[in-house]
Amino acid sequence: MFDLKVIVIGAGIGGLTAGVALSRAGFQVEVYDRTRELRPAGAGISLWSNGVKVLNSLGMGKAIAAIGGQMDRMQYRSLSGELLNDISLQPLINTVGQRPYPVARTDLQQILLDAFPGEVALDHQCTGVEESGDRVTALFANGHRTTGDLVIAADGVRSILRSYVLGQVVEPQYGGYVNWNGLVPVSPQLAPPDTWMIYVGEHKRASLMPVAGDRFYFFFDVPLAKGSSMPPEKIQAELTEHFAGWADPVQQLIQQIDPEKTNRLEIHDVGPIDRMIRGRVALLGDSAHATCPDLGQGGCQAMEDVYLLTHFLLTTNVSVPDALQRYEANRKERTRAIVQKARSRAEQIHGKDPDLTQAWYEQLRTEKPEEVTGAIAKTILGGPLR
Ligand SMILES: Cc1cc2nc3c(=O)[nH]c(=O)nc-3n(C[C@H](O)[C@H](O)[C@H](O)COP(=O)(O)OP(=O)(O)OC[C@H]3O[C@@H](n4cnc5c(N)ncnc54)[C@H](O)[C@@H]3O)c2cc1C
Repeated sequence: MFDLKVIVIGAGIGGLTAGVALSRAGFQVEVYDRTRELRPAGAGISLWSNGVKVLNSLGMGKAIAAIGGQMDRMQYRSLSGELLNDISLQPLINTVGQRPYPVARTDLQQILLDAFPGEVALDHQCTGVEESGDRVTALFANGHRTTGDLVIAADGVRSILRSYVLGQVVEPQYGGYVNWNGLVPVSPQLAPPDTWMIYVGEHKRASLMPVAGDRFYFFFDVPLAKGSSMPPEKIQAELTEHFAGWADPVQQLIQQIDPEKTNRLEIHDVGPIDRMIRGRVALLGDSAHATCPDLGQGGCQAMEDVYLLTHFLLTTNVSVPDALQRYEANRKERTRAIVQKARSRAEQIHGKDPDLTQAWYEQLRTEKPEEVTGAIAKTILGGPLR
């Protein structure tokens, strides 16, 4: 289709990637976000090869490689530091055809903003949409209105446009655990600089991943009841208590974190939901399929959404609603399966059934490295960019 005006609500990973892809496809694109200052929620993200391939397809291969950490291996260790498994990622890279890149979220946001030819309209909180004939109008709390050919609702896990598309409110569900994350300088006392290190035990995790700029993206996960919170000045004491008795690098990591710059999040997911579109409005990214981060696929799925939505808008010409129906038909099952798989994985890691978690710890000791990389490759190759 030609000369479309696309309105994107939300300038997170999904909305910004959509802004880049749809502009490059030749469409007029407006991107709106409710915040006054764009700040990513979280310190780092692992872009697995399916997400990287979408960026490659947008001509951003060099930019993503420049901000990506050199992650050559994964190591699982017990809480006492015993090596459970040491996994080369080269077989994965050979199978899928592209290396994964752990990145700092601010770096990812910056390369997307650099690639987007327009300006993100900040301080624009979308309050709803109105469809009339072959046009759709987005309405904003500040009184602004804009009319176009379609609206992309990339407004995240607490999307307000999800209710419009589904005709009912679907609340995010608590994933059962809290995640702390941030960045620390690389140091050999913490982990080798080419390795994704994961300590597991007591249904918790402590993890380090290399990103560009000689930094590690770290995270901790602990199953906790919903509604816990902690002021920044108490975060180190809280982590010290949760990880008492864990290996020395975990203790050193807790000492090295900057509590003011450490994020503390209760993890939620959404769905699976039955629809991703209504008329000229399409859900994209977390608004449709917020995913427990235990597969590292939420952001990558938003990118796959962008790839196929752009593809159908560019290559079909029946109508915008028809292109959106093709988008939904190609994305619904894939994203539903990822949400469910990530939730099962979150339960396995965080002790929903303690026997299953114990069995997983045993499996980590005995599993062949190629079984681990094979499972990751299967998830990656289930997407549109094989
Ligand atoms: C701890 C953690 C670790 C993760 N790790 C990974 C990983 O390793 N790999 C991976 O691929 N994914 C990971 N994810 C998932 C990934 O972060 C998300 O899937 C991704 O950020 C979703 O992007 P999005 O653009 O859909 O939503 P968001 O990034 O949430 O962006 C939504 C945007 O919409 C704006 N907005 C909301 N409402 C309105 C409104 N009414 N009007 C205007 N603007 C609005 C918000 O301000 C925000 O900027 C992780 C998630 C978490 C929580």
